[in-house]
Amino acid sequence: MKKKLSIVAPMYNEEEMAPIFYDVLSKIMDDIKDRYDSELVLVNDGSKDKTLEILKDLRSKDPRIHIVSFSRNYGQEPAVTAGVKVAHGDAVIIMDADLQDPPELIYDLLKYFEEGYEVVNAKRVDRKKDTFMKRFTAEQYYNVIYKLSGKIKVPKNVGNFRLISRRVVDILNALPEKNHVFRVMVPYVGFKTKEVEFVRPARPKGETKYNFKSMFRLAGDSITSSSLRPLIWSFKFGLVLCPLSLVSLLLSIVSYILGANNVDFFNRLDNGLFISVSLIIFLFSMLFIFVGIASQYIGRIFTEVQNRPLYFIDENLESDIEDK
Ligand code: UDP
Ligand code: MG
Repeated sequence: MKKKLSIVAPMYNEEEMAPIFYDVLSKIMDDIKDRYDSELVLVNDGSKDKTLEILKDLRSKDPRIHIVSFSRNYGQEPAVTAGVKVAHGDAVIIMDADLQDPPELIYDLLKYFEEGYEVVNAKRVDRKKDTFMKRFTAEQYYNVIYKLSGKIKVPKNVGNFRLISRRVVDILNALPEKNHVFRVMVPYVGFKTKEVEFVRPARPKGETKYNFKSMFRLAGDSITSSSLRPLIWSFKFGLVLCPLSLVSLLLSIVSYILGANNVDFFNRLDNGLFISVSLIIFLFSMLFIFVGIASQYIGRIFTEVQNRPLYFIDENLESDIEDK
């Protein structure tokens, strides 16, 4: 019996990319149709342009398309989560809809899936086509997550583009948390993993949907969902600061007793004041940073406790894969 393959792509205001993306993907699905019954799960993440109309039009001609359309814009991660949840495939491939994840790589992903790998990650080895800012922020993001994730080892430069087996999909779908960052959840669950490399091309049409704020949020979600280490930093800082402050206290008492301040009393007093005020400002800023870190976790605990659904679906138009 033929295996089933689902290709999941989130779309937010991708009216320019949607037809191009479909064209490329439908050719690949045709090409592998002897081995796989494929479906293309396209999640319309509350687009304000014509994305949904275009998708519906494509679906009327090609029943391999499954459309999930959200009630509003929720973000790439909820969109991927929804796509993976409705996917029927024995293998599920997640990719961006802007062709920055090259579809030809699907052949490699499938090759390793057929060899028995349950997770096949696509790693960007070169992203020269991205802007300097994008490359810089991405590099810092992956470095920090890699360091903080400890034993789990979230791989660097692996975004959402990957193949996962049905077994891994079921496990991911069953994870109870609401803070879904796909790229840190997949390494968390483990299983036999392979990596394939690719050069990240530029976006042919449209522009990036991420601004500084949304990148910051993704980084916060990724860190808080993969590591508790930042919570320990304030404790470590305190451990270092405590003996230092004792030494400084001791020195000031000794200097007072020995009358060192009498040499040029007012001058020293001024300097001393300046140093202490700077020190107080520094310590307060550290305190605010540590409170800020703790608040990031508290905010996410609140969201988990609220336990609201991650998204609401406005329309769910299935593909014909189940009938095959
Ligand atoms: N995307 C989405 N919802 C959003 C932002 C992005 O579904 O709120 C989709 C977008 O349509 C694309 C993918 O996520 O298919 C990656 O987005 P983008 O290309 O803007 O990210 P970048 O490549 O700049 O990291
Ligand atoms: Mg992109």
